[in-house]
Amino acid sequence: MSDTVLASMQFEPGAMAPGGFIPLSVPQLRGNEWKYVKECLDTNWVSSAGPFVNRFEETLARYVGAAHAIATSSGTAALHIALLAAGVRPDDEVLVPALTFIAPANAVRYAGAYPVLVDVEPTYWQMNAELVADFLRRECRRTDGQTFNRTSGRRVSALLPVHILGHPVDMEPIIQLAREFGLAIIEDATESLGAEYKSTKVGCLGDIACFSFNGNKIITTGGGGMIVTDNPEWAEKARYLSTQAKDDPIEYVHKEIGYNYRMTNIQAALGCAQMEQIDDFIRAKRSIAETYARGFEKLNGVEVMREAPWAASIFWMFTVLVREAEYGEDSRGLMRRLRKERIQSRPLWQPLHRSPAHQKAQSLLTGCADIINQRALSLPCSVGVSQADLNNVIEIVSCRG
Ligand SMILES: *Cc1c(COP(=O)(O)O)cnc(C)c1O
Repeated sequence: MSDTVLASMQFEPGAMAPGGFIPLSVPQLRGNEWKYVKECLDTNWVSSAGPFVNRFEETLARYVGAAHAIATSSGTAALHIALLAAGVRPDDEVLVPALTFIAPANAVRYAGAYPVLVDVEPTYWQMNAELVADFLRRECRRTDGQTFNRTSGRRVSALLPVHILGHPVDMEPIIQLAREFGLAIIEDATESLGAEYKSTKVGCLGDIACFSFNGNKIITTGGGGMIVTDNPEWAEKARYLSTQAKDDPIEYVHKEIGYNYRMTNIQAALGCAQMEQIDDFIRAKRSIAETYARGFEKLNGVEVMREAPWAASIFWMFTVLVREAEYGEDSRGLMRRLRKERIQSRPLWQPLHRSPAHQKAQSLLTGCADIINQRALSLPCSVGVSQADLNNVIEIVSCRG
């Protein structure tokens, strides 16, 4: 099967092991999804106004513990708006981890700002706060309460930590640095809804945060996103900008350039149904991670993703590092062998400092993102994956090539 076909199957709702195929991660839509979507169609509320949008916003705000939530058409749109609401301006710089899906770096560019790429730490693979500190202390100067990058001359206005793969970033040092240097914190929590850092849910650790409900995230609305914040002015700004910056909806007066980023009622209907099941979804993800960890305990050269003592991970995308010297095969070799057995697996993202799309970005590197990218492989971890399928994957990974 080609990579393109395999990649598209990730989002196919009916793709749960057809003919023995084990997909990487597919949604589970077995709650009130049909009922709520039907309600949208029956009542004619299909577009971006409607009761489910407000209900989904309230549900999510309550779940993460934020004062305000604004539903958007995607997680990437949420990031774009969150950056604008947080006061990131054209020609500013924003610190983004080097190992992440590309969306946060792209969103920084949409805002006219530039990403500065920060390598990750080797234990939990998250943004390395020590590198952030080094950069701010050694490579920046402070003028009038603002921070400027000495090399580029640009203002550094925000930190954008990304809680990758369901695990939180170690936020305390990041929060302290943000205070010391007068920077906003925009959390990209798109992969980690429900994860906790020292008993606080991600999304409530910085100044503003974003979630995604794309097809392979912990809950899905088909496509969609959410901005959460405790700041009432930023919330109002985010709502305004994501709904075309309408100042007079009758006379069509717009004082600014806004965006058509509002979530629809149909998407939100799915979101409400999915939120009813999130505790079960997270339990399932954690149990899958435990099964894999136990399965690979005695396997040389395969290191499973970890959970920090200060964290509650949702293990959104279960990932292992394959050390070729000990395992006898590299991560891509293992991927090909799994594919022959009709099991989908996938490497992590190309590190952003290697991405042709962000060639010019300044980067602070230790080599960690590169090594993780070489070794990482995500394994099947759909919420609804069967124990038999997991055992099958463990068996094939365990008896190497
Ligand atoms: C999924 C994801 C996004 C964007 O979400 P979309 O809803 O697909 O736009 C942003 N950042 C990260 C890290 C993601 O994994």
